[in-house]
Amino acid sequence: MGKRATDEWAARHGAEVRRDVGAETLTTFRGGGRAERVYLPRSAEDAAELIGLCRAEEEEPYVLGGGSKTIVADGEVMRPVISTDLMRAVEVVVMSDEGVTVRAECGARLSDVARRAADCGCGGLEFLAGVPASVGGAVHMNAGAFGQQTADHVVEIEVLNPVSGEIERKSRAQTDFGYRRGAEGFVCAVTFFLPAMSGEERASRRERFLAWRRSRQPRLPSCGSVFKRGAAPAGALIEDAGLKGVRLGGAEISRVHAGFIVNAGGASAADFFALAELAARRVEELFGERLQKEFEILADDLPF
Ligand SMILES: Cc1cc2nc3c(=O)[nH]c(=O)nc-3n(C[C@H](O)[C@H](O)[C@H](O)COP(=O)(O)OP(=O)(O)OC[C@H]3O[C@@H](n4cnc5c(N)ncnc54)[C@H](O)[C@@H]3O)c2cc1C
Repeated sequence: MGKRATDEWAARHGAEVRRDVGAETLTTFRGGGRAERVYLPRSAEDAAELIGLCRAEEEEPYVLGGGSKTIVADGEVMRPVISTDLMRAVEVVVMSDEGVTVRAECGARLSDVARRAADCGCGGLEFLAGVPASVGGAVHMNAGAFGQQTADHVVEIEVLNPVSGEIERKSRAQTDFGYRRGAEGFVCAVTFFLPAMSGEERASRRERFLAWRRSRQPRLPSCGSVFKRGAAPAGALIEDAGLKGVRLGGAEISRVHAGFIVNAGGASAADFFALAELAARRVEELFGERLQKEFEILADDLPF
């Protein structure tokens, strides 16, 4: 096979490419296979260029942020990965008595945005404290908790138009946010507004949310909730189906919270998928509710 256009471009531009990277470094579940090549662009323009080159070679790249909602299929995945890990700039755009406007590149962590806002005496993202999401992943999934969601704080997103290859600005109103549904396409950067908040209030909100997570969520590696909430929380249905603590290979339905599948040691992606399938099947048989998966899969062929 000749040299790929993406590899030639990366070599010409001194862009970082990592080969044969394992799920243990790519994802928070830390189990599964390996990505044959991971490109790490340093700017939105470079990312757009790489995405265009992949598509010209009829490959749809997988955009990876914090890897906290991603399971890597077992074996070697040939699908190109574009990691946003080197695109992490966070800057204050405007500060006023009401709050602060912060622009963050997609690979920045939500915690980086919260920290920058806190430096300016502002807050609002405490509900996601402890969640290892990137800005791009959080806006793509509209990550949320405790009745709040990422979209609540979004002013504008910068997103790649897949047809023109141009980076466009879209206001929150122009983005179809919903429950765990956010921006489509490659999110390059996001502008947030975070309101003024005293240090005491920020600390107390943060501690309250973190304490809740510590007492009700597992500490073992996971990708967060495996299924979306339906009429009832998926974790409650899985627990009622008697599946808490059920183990397949190295994957386990968490004993702490049945909505999570944890890597209890040496879990493969197949272990994870089989357990997710088992939970979905049993819940449907017993309660007639078909659970919808919340996780994303990095694979050449989707397993289901
Ligand atoms: C311990 C733990 C607790 C969690 N708690 C919560 C919670 O309370 N609420 C919640 O909603 N989630 C929670 N999660 C899940 C997860 O953090 C979120 O879904 C988060 O939004 C995923 O972000 P990420 O950057 O890690 O995404 P990744 O896993 O990297 O990617 C997820 C999806 O987003 C896409 N994506 C990533 N970056 C971009 C980009 N720049 N542009 C376009 N698409 C992109 C990927 O292609 C993929 O489809 C938790 C996870 C863990 C491990």
